[in-house]
Amino acid sequence: MDTAYKDLSLPQRVLLGPGPSNVPERVMKAMASPVVGHLDPAFLAVMEEVQEMLQSVFMTKNRFTIPISGTGSAGMEAALVNVIEEGDHVLVCVSGVFGERMCDIVGRCGGILKRVDTKWGTPIDPDDVTEALKEFPAKIVAIVHAETSTGVLQPLEEISKIVHEKDALFLVDAVTSLGGAPLKIDDWNVDVCYSGTQKCLSCPPGLAPITFSPLAVETLRNRSQKVQSWYLDMTMLEKYWGPDRVYHHTAPISMVYAIRESLRIVLEEGLTNRWERHSAYHRDLVSALEKLGLTMLVEESYRTPMLNSVVIPPDVDDVSVRKRLLEEYNTEIGSGLGPLKGKIWRIGLMGHSCTQENVEHIVNALKALL
Ligand SMILES: *Cc1c(COP(=O)(O)O)cnc(C)c1O
Repeated sequence: MDTAYKDLSLPQRVLLGPGPSNVPERVMKAMASPVVGHLDPAFLAVMEEVQEMLQSVFMTKNRFTIPISGTGSAGMEAALVNVIEEGDHVLVCVSGVFGERMCDIVGRCGGILKRVDTKWGTPIDPDDVTEALKEFPAKIVAIVHAETSTGVLQPLEEISKIVHEKDALFLVDAVTSLGGAPLKIDDWNVDVCYSGTQKCLSCPPGLAPITFSPLAVETLRNRSQKVQSWYLDMTMLEKYWGPDRVYHHTAPISMVYAIRESLRIVLEEGLTNRWERHSAYHRDLVSALEKLGLTMLVEESYRTPMLNSVVIPPDVDDVSVRKRLLEEYNTEIGSGLGPLKGKIWRIGLMGHSCTQENVEHIVNALKALL
């Protein structure tokens, strides 16, 4: 029978915001593969490949490396709820929206929170972490690698050393950085790290890759209370993703096909090539924007290559420029968040969207509109 609803029809946008990024045809095709059961041997083989490829992309040997069902925020929640028990001391480094979100979750699972803050648009100073840990017996120190709300790429190695000198766990948000900038879980001694699919992996949103170091797994095993979240409890999830294959929840089958293909694409290109591509087009974009008279929010040495925060000139209307970009150029860029609302644009060059063609396209569009 006919309904009032027509066939689904969506525009093919140029996605140059803070995510999602454009999805390669190959990934869309993989998603259209037949749905099989979540315990079908054919699917179990796909799961194993995904775990192996995730280890390569995270640059880790951690056996405990899986995609969580849910977006990047589910990864954040999974990372925190599995290592925090009521009364645990948690230090969170806050330099933007996503650090704030971590603080919220710490409070919800009964952690005792201390913050290290920095002005939005600047990185966390390792000395401030040292200072904060003097008085505060942190079990976990959490930080965002690429703060998508500001465009800052946070150096991690020095802070990792400081954290481990105090025998705390080092927990990192790599939702935006994974697959777009160097991130070395084992070399940098990161204990818990999570990401998302729709940023530099160029897969639709829906999964959150996560990895736990042996030390983090030990912390999980030594818990005295159950993990606060049933759905995100890694002690149960590992029984499905591990050799036992015990049903916990139905894996989002088609999304697992999608991430498999997107990881395959990342590894075909090679991590180093991928990092270089992101940093090369980032530099091209910045120099072209500067020629237009625009300035960047973040100091050169701390910029994330995949997310460019551009200061909106005082005489320019934020909303109307973004509206015209969408309507006339079929192109999405991001607005500022929180204190940066109306002050910056966030131009993403993530994964499949990070091309010379897109750099030229956005620069020409902004030139015409300004
Ligand atoms: C996008 C993002 C998240 C949240 O991911 P969702 O997929 O929107 O849930 C968390 N942290 C950072 C740094 C992000 O960029």
